[in-house]
Amino acid sequence: MRAPGGGYRAHEPVFGFGDPRSEPGHAQRLARVARILTVLADERFDEFLDVGAGEAYLARLVHEQFGARVAACDLSREACRRGREFFGVPTFSCDAARLPLEDRSFDLVVCSEVIEHLEDPFAAMAELLRVARAAVIITTQECARGPVERWLRLRLRDPDKPHFERNWWTLRDFPRLLGPGVTVSRQFRVRGAPDDSEKDFDRVRGWLAQAIRPEGLAREGVGALVLWRRTQAVARTPQAQTSDPSSRSLMPPSQAQDALLRRLITPPPAGHSMPAGADAWLKAKLRCPVCRSALDGKDGGARCSQCGREWGSQAGVMDLCEPRAPVAAAPEGDRAGASRSSPQTPEELQARAEAERRAVLDEAEVGRLRALFDLRNVATGMRAALCAALLALVELGDNLRYHKTAAAALREFAFQMREAARWIDPRHEGWIVRARSEQALYVIERGRRRHIVTPEAYEASGLNRRRLRVVDRDWLASLPLGEPLGAPPNENSREGRS
Ligand SMILES: [Zn+2]
Repeated sequence: MRAPGGGYRAHEPVFGFGDPRSEPGHAQRLARVARILTVLADERFDEFLDVGAGEAYLARLVHEQFGARVAACDLSREACRRGREFFGVPTFSCDAARLPLEDRSFDLVVCSEVIEHLEDPFAAMAELLRVARAAVIITTQECARGPVERWLRLRLRDPDKPHFERNWWTLRDFPRLLGPGVTVSRQFRVRGAPDDSEKDFDRVRGWLAQAIRPEGLAREGVGALVLWRRTQAVARTPQAQTSDPSSRSLMPPSQAQDALLRRLITPPPAGHSMPAGADAWLKAKLRCPVCRSALDGKDGGARCSQCGREWGSQAGVMDLCEPRAPVAAAPEGDRAGASRSSPQTPEELQARAEAERRAVLDEAEVGRLRALFDLRNVATGMRAALCAALLALVELGDNLRYHKTAAAALREFAFQMREAARWIDPRHEGWIVRARSEQALYVIERGRRRHIVTPEAYEASGLNRRRLRVVDRDWLASLPLGEPLGAPPNENSREGRS
């Protein structure tokens, strides 16, 4: 993710608690990491992979806590590079829906806070299950308390926001999708979470201990933590749809927290060394993401031994998203041989992906969720106002019961109701708007539209914290122009003529 000013922004608080170079909500991010560690403590594994790992922070902690051999991958090459640099974790860049690995390559595979963003989360889930030898852990904080809340949230999604939350889940989706091998629980409790300005690390530590305790998770917890085990999936042993987390034995919370606190209180990481042989160990596992054949090293990258596609490598990170070079011309006989043994055409690849998905996911449930997640369900105007008001009510109930003091819950409710009303407020005061299928951004102030001329003006004004709305072109054009934001002299008159 890009930070204000365009620099790199880390997903996890890897620069220390409260450091603005990481995405906000540090206490909650640490709580999720701590919770995943407590679940991992019950699993047997030696080889660990984090998919969509960001800077590989979790992978490093897993290595330290459990002595496992760890690897991490992410769509972002920058994140992969930082995973190596900060935490000494061997990484590779790839698409979660097309993992460059053989079946059952790693004992344990984690995919945390990814499936809510993907256009096809089911392809990625099928891939996670395919490459896991023993178990998969999936987490998503975008998990509603029930179908009504989910229905409302899906209508209020914001597709114009970069990296927006596209898919909203409920706890019941996962047993339906993944079958009896799955255990589902909440991630952590939010109540009393310290904000990022908290300087008292003992308070952070104390809150973490409370946030991941099994008592209270079922009632007050947020998000979903899904644990799928291959043995249970094969044996089809009967299993409760949603397990009681208090029945699980947990690693002493202090142990997980001590590892976390080491990160909290340390200054920016000085760089960890890579365990001996880690690069070679990972390299031996990597396959061509298209045909899953072995890769041969070539010119600092790799070439598929079967289909001939070439893949790049930068700063020790293999880029297995898009081939560096197209399929090299091979003798006709070789090509025919290759296409017989592995899928090559888009149709063949699609057929393979669908067959593999059907083998592990319930197709009826996939169809039901696809229809729910369809972006055509996003509401605008009066419908959006109604949905936003109803959701504000749902959240008020939740906040009063589980998360916030009455005063804080009511303040948030008032704010959300004002936001909801904006959908029907003809003046749209304070909205950031863009005409449908156009790029220029405007802020609406006192009935005028002010053109936001430069990205710097956008960042400096703090407008990026507000929601961007796509509006009707004619309506936008009907508003008088105000002073542009961040414009060089005369910009206003130029804009006025256009
Ligand atoms: Zn290949």
